[in-house]
Amino acid sequence: MVFYQLIISLISKLSMPHNYMHTIVYHDDYNKYDLGIDHPLVGNKPKRTMDLLKEKNMLKDVKEFLAEKATEKDILRAHSQEYVNKVKTLSKTGGMLSADTPAPIGIFETASIATGGTILAGDKLFDKYNCTINPLGGFHHAGRASSSGFCFFNDIAVVIEYLREKHNIKRFSVVDLDVHHGNGTQDIYYRDSTVLNISFHQDGRTLYPGTGAVDFIGKEKGEGYTVNLPLPPGTGTASYLTAFNEIIPPILEQFKPEIIIYQSGVDTHHTDPLADLYLSYQAYFYLANNMLKISKDACDKLLVLFGGGYNSDSSIVSYYNIMCGLLELEHYAKEQDNFSHQKSNVVKNQVLKLKNVLKPHWAL
Ligand SMILES: [Zn+2]
Repeated sequence: MVFYQLIISLISKLSMPHNYMHTIVYHDDYNKYDLGIDHPLVGNKPKRTMDLLKEKNMLKDVKEFLAEKATEKDILRAHSQEYVNKVKTLSKTGGMLSADTPAPIGIFETASIATGGTILAGDKLFDKYNCTINPLGGFHHAGRASSSGFCFFNDIAVVIEYLREKHNIKRFSVVDLDVHHGNGTQDIYYRDSTVLNISFHQDGRTLYPGTGAVDFIGKEKGEGYTVNLPLPPGTGTASYLTAFNEIIPPILEQFKPEIIIYQSGVDTHHTDPLADLYLSYQAYFYLANNMLKISKDACDKLLVLFGGGYNSDSSIVSYYNIMCGLLELEHYAKEQDNFSHQKSNVVKNQVLKLKNVLKPHWAL
C-alpha cells in the first residue's frame, strides 16, 4: 500500500507543470525616490504596492529579499565616470539633472539602491528562482552619459552588464512595455547583437521622449536587434494585445534569449495623467501571464521591473494584476473596457510596417 502511494505521488510530481519560484526585492528606502511635490513621480508607490500585495496575500509564495545599494563599479559598467560624478554632485547639493528631472538631495544613494535591487533580482535568477521582481526598476531613459525622464541610472543596462560579467550570459532580451520609448536602453545597445531590445510605446510624435520610430532597428552588428512599435493615442487593450501576440512571442522564439528582462510599466493605463494608450486593468494580467509563458518556453529566467505609472491608485492595481499574471492566479482586477478597437486600423498598419522593416531579420 505504502509502495503504491509512493508511486502515485512520484507520478503526480512528474506530471505537475513546472512551478516557478518567485522572488521580490524591496527596501523601505525605495520610497525616497521622490522627485518633489507637484512632480508626477511620487515616492510612496513601492510601499503602497507592497502593502496591497500583502493585503491580498499575494506574497505567501514569493520570497522577499532586501535590496542593497549597487556599487559604483556596478553602475560604471553602463555609465560614464563623468555622468556618475555629476549625479553624485547633484545628490549633495540638490538641483536639476534635466528640465523634467529634479535631483533631490540623497538621490545618488536612492538611485543606487533601486539599481542594486535590480542587480539582486537578476542574481537570484541564478539561485533557483525563475521569476524575480523589482518594484522600483526599469529606468529606461538613462543613457550612458546623460539622462532625463525621471531616470538616473539605467538599471536594465547595469544588470545586463553585471550578468554578462558574473554569469557569462550572452543573449539578453528586453521587452519594454512602458508607455514611453526606452531611449536610454536603445542608445546603449543600438549596435549590439547580444541584446534584443523590444519597445512598445506611444508614438514619439505625441509623447516624451519623441524617439522610437518603427524604422529604427539598430545599426551595424546590432541591425535587427532593436524593435520599436510606436502606437497611436487611444490604442486600447484589444489592439495592443493583438500587436503583442504578433510580434513578441515569435521574435523571442527565434532569438532564444538566456534571460528576459520585462519592463512592465503601467503608464499605459487609461487613467495615467501623462499618456494616452488607454489600456485596461485586465491587459496587465494578460501581458504578464504571457511573458511568463514565453519565459517558460525560452529560458526559465524572467526579471520583471515594474516601470512607470503616474496615477498611483490605478498603478498599484495594475501591478497587482501583473503579479496575478506572474503567479498564474485568475482573481485579477477587471474593469469596463470602453477603449478598445478605436484605433485598430492604425495599429494594424503600424504592425505591418514593423513586420516589413524586420523582414530581413525575423520571420513574422
Ligand atoms: Zn513611462
